[in-house]
Amino acid sequence: MNSCSENHQEDTEKSRSVGDATPQKSAQKKPDHLSKDEQLPPRRPGLENLCNLQRLDSSIQVELKYATKDNFMKRRLYFDIDSLYLQEDVAKRLVKVQRYLKQRHPGLSLLVYDGVRPLGVQQQMWDALDSIPVRERVKFVSNPANGSIHNYGAAIDLTIADSTGKPLDMGAGYDDIRRIAYPRLEAHYLSTGELSSEQVANRKLLREVMRSQYFYNIPTEWWHFNACSRAAAKKKYNILQ
Ligand SMILES: [Zn+2]
Repeated sequence: MNSCSENHQEDTEKSRSVGDATPQKSAQKKPDHLSKDEQLPPRRPGLENLCNLQRLDSSIQVELKYATKDNFMKRRLYFDIDSLYLQEDVAKRLVKVQRYLKQRHPGLSLLVYDGVRPLGVQQQMWDALDSIPVRERVKFVSNPANGSIHNYGAAIDLTIADSTGKPLDMGAGYDDIRRIAYPRLEAHYLSTGELSSEQVANRKLLREVMRSQYFYNIPTEWWHFNACSRAAAKKKYNILQ
């Protein structure tokens, strides 16, 4: 009964019952000073085809960074995305990763920062970094002309949090564009002492649990994982504009 499509249907039913209820019934459930639109949850066209991750598994922690100012752009980018959305099959794989992690380390949890990202937001990020040459820029933000796997809801940015909800120390923050964030340079930074063995072990744990469900990382961001290739995503899914 965990299917997202069922949950979406449930949502629609709930929304419908609020909007279509008789005046007495709606007065019992909702303050009657709210207009019909205010009573409905926020919806962005296209999200209904995706899966709300936390409805599938509420134990997974989500902190949608682009719905806050706490991101490399220092301003809010998501206004009509209220939660973490992914393709349903991708979300189900992530739930399995969470279970695998919890079996091995009951106190730890996945902490997800981003899932589906509208193409319009991708363009804003790309434009904001226009002082960086394209060859370098693609290491941090996919060129919107090609589409990011995030735009399809098949890429995930995440870390691991401890039992208090605090992210494990990865030696570089989320969206840190310094080379110390590169998984491919970990051995180098370990040898110089700029990364500790604990920080590298934390990154390895994240990669290991993600790989258990065939998510693979990229060489330049410790937090980013793809569920499939861009070509496969293009074939299988629609882009969120
Ligand atoms: Zn990412």
